[in-house]
Amino acid sequence: MNKLAVHVVGAGLAGLATAVRLAGGPREIVLHEAARQAGGRCRSFYDPALGLMIDNGNHLLLSGNHDARKFLTAIGSEDQLAGPPEAEFAFVDLATKERWRLRPNAGRLPWWIFSSLRRVPGTGPFDYIGLRRLLVPGKDAPVGTVMRCDGLLYERLWRPFFLAALNTEPAEASSRLAAAVVLETLARGGRACRPLVAAPGLSAAFIAPALDYLDKRGVTIRFDHRLRRIEFANGQAAALDFGDNTVQLDAADKVVLAVPPYAARGLVPGLQSPEDYRAIVNAHFKIAPPKNCPAILGIVNGTIEWLFAFPGRLAVTISDADRLLDVAREELAERIWAEVAEVTRIEKPLPPWQIIKEKRATFAATVAENARRPGTGTAYANLVLAGDWTATGLPATIEGAIRSGHRAADLIAASRLRQGAA
Ligand SMILES: Cc1cc2nc3c(=O)[nH]c(=O)nc-3n(C[C@H](O)[C@H](O)[C@H](O)COP(=O)(O)OP(=O)(O)OC[C@H]3O[C@@H](n4cnc5c(N)ncnc54)[C@H](O)[C@@H]3O)c2cc1C
Repeated sequence: MNKLAVHVVGAGLAGLATAVRLAGGPREIVLHEAARQAGGRCRSFYDPALGLMIDNGNHLLLSGNHDARKFLTAIGSEDQLAGPPEAEFAFVDLATKERWRLRPNAGRLPWWIFSSLRRVPGTGPFDYIGLRRLLVPGKDAPVGTVMRCDGLLYERLWRPFFLAALNTEPAEASSRLAAAVVLETLARGGRACRPLVAAPGLSAAFIAPALDYLDKRGVTIRFDHRLRRIEFANGQAAALDFGDNTVQLDAADKVVLAVPPYAARGLVPGLQSPEDYRAIVNAHFKIAPPKNCPAILGIVNGTIEWLFAFPGRLAVTISDADRLLDVAREELAERIWAEVAEVTRIEKPLPPWQIIKEKRATFAATVAENARRPGTGTAYANLVLAGDWTATGLPATIEGAIRSGHRAADLIAASRLRQGAA
């Protein structure tokens, strides 16, 4: 008897996490990817303008991102994440030129707010209590209606933290998503908020080892294989149409759709999903970071928000960046470099640069869009969804994408137990 199959469509992190969790199990796994490479919105490529490998976007993780770390452990890649041994974030305020280091203590009891050496300068311990209002369970609402979105602490801590996590101006973002991020990281103490980056690049840490893991376990991976249509019959997905070939599904075969929401909507009739997106702009400069440059620097009161120092390269992230999409690339490079030069104290003209504008980087983390996220299961018995845009309870992040893939895999494994499928 042929093995029952799971067809995973989309080899971004959600699809890869699904396949990694199911690989080596009783079902045959086939991964279909429209592009010629895996990774989706989380990938590296060679940039000829810089003559360097770069990531499509600088990706920051926190040590509390459990699903991401489980995935990396599974594929033997956890040591590829680099970060300080303790939670520590360097900041500079471009308006006042002040510099400080935010250092939450390791345990859950947040005594760091009582230390002027660890908290945000110009704030007092009782300012931090305002965050509690966000953590009271209740109806989802814009963050700006739940907590104060002004003042020094907001500008220097809560806004940068939530903007990075939600990719949406915090005042208009979903309070539930903001609270979920706090509960999984900051509320667990500094141990859960160490900043981590994929030191050798996203593909070397997340993608290549996952593909290798799948290959060793007999998973078939088909690149350049875009799913065009799903045929449905008797409340099930019955066939997958890839244009040049059609895969007929056995009644007990499963399909995991791990494509972006706009692609999923075209494939599943009546599917509700987020429709509003936010851009992220990244800039890369080919120049050696100065010796004293922190690996990650938060910038307040500037256009740039985060500066990452890599060997031979400085890279910038700007979230919720739709306002910059129409700015000419040359003008943007000059403007961003002026700020980078100021915060790093590099007195040099614009070095070789690259700007990457990801227009639909993430769905907008607003109350309305959060309410449009579907769960893992669908109305079709053998079709499940994965992706950072499904109802993970988290914003669109690596952690959310991988968690969605784990949930899809677990749902399939559970249905096999229920059906007693081989
Ligand atoms: C610039 C940028 C910066 C970011 N920064 C961070 C960060 O700092 N921290 C963080 O945690 N997250 C960050 N993110 C978010 C993170 O990258 C995403 O949440 C995650 O990569 C989404 O993975 P996914 O698998 O859900 O979707 P995707 O990566 O979009 O994967 C979907 C895959 O499906 C494929 N596909 C589409 N249609 C079809 C089809 N019809 N048939 C077959 N395949 C198809 C696509 O080619 C793609 O490979 C950032 C994202 C961007 C863009």
